[in-house]
Amino acid sequence: MGNSIAIDGPAGAGKSTIAKLVAKELGFIYVDTGAMYRAMALYLIRKGIDRNDSAQIEKACEDADISISYEDGKQVVLLFDENVNDYLRTEEVGNMASISSANPKVREKLVALQQKLAAQKDVVMDGRDIGTVVLPDSKFKIYLTASAHVRAKRRYDELVLKGEKADLSKIEADITERDERDMTREHSPLKQAEDAVVIDSSDMSVEEVKDAILAEAEKRL
Ligand code: C5P
Repeated sequence: MGNSIAIDGPAGAGKSTIAKLVAKELGFIYVDTGAMYRAMALYLIRKGIDRNDSAQIEKACEDADISISYEDGKQVVLLFDENVNDYLRTEEVGNMASISSANPKVREKLVALQQKLAAQKDVVMDGRDIGTVVLPDSKFKIYLTASAHVRAKRRYDELVLKGEKADLSKIEADITERDERDMTREHSPLKQAEDAVVIDSSDMSVEEVKDAILAEAEKRL
C-alpha cells in the first residue's frame, strides 16, 4: 500500500480542485472516485436503465467495463476503452450517479478498482467513503465541507463562466437533495471518519485550504 490522503465531503465542497493541487505538489496521483460513479451512471443512462429499478442496475453494472488511465498526469475514465471524461460532468449524470451509487453491487465493483489503484501508487483520493471504507488505514483523512449556499454559488459561477445557463436556487436545491441521499443511504453513506481532520472551506480561499493540507501532510506522511 502506498501513501495516501483520503478526502471526503459533500458535493461541491471543492474536493477535486484541492485534491488535484495537493497531488501535484506532493507528486502523488489524483484519483477522482466520483468520476467512476459517474461513468457507471453514464453507462446505465446509455442502456436506458430505469434509475428506480435496483435489480436492473445491479444486473447491468456487472457488465460495465470501467478502468482508469492517466494522460499527462490527468485521470482519464475509460468505459469499454472509450474516454468518457467529456460526458461525466452534466447534472443528469450527477443525479443518476447519486442514485446508482447507493447500490451495493455498484460500490463493490468500484471500491475494488479504487483499492487496487491505491495499492500501486501514492494517491490523493476524493469521494464520499474514502476514509471510512476504501482506505480506512490512511494516515491522513480530511473531511472537506462548506455551507450548501456557498457550494451552490461556486457551481453557479463555474457554469456562468463557461457561458452556460444556470439557476442558483435550482442548483442549491439539487445539491441539498444529493447530500441528503448520500448521507442517508444504507451502504457507505457520506460521513466523517472519526479520525478525519475537518476543514470548512466556506470562508477560505483555495490557496488557504491547500496550504493547510500541505502543512498537515508534512507532519503525518
Ligand atoms: O463527487 P461527484 O459529484 O463527482 O460524485 C457523484 C456521485 O457519486 C455522488 O453524488 C455520490 O453519490 C457518488 N459517489 C459515491 N462515493 C464516492 C464518490 C462518489 O457514492 N466515493
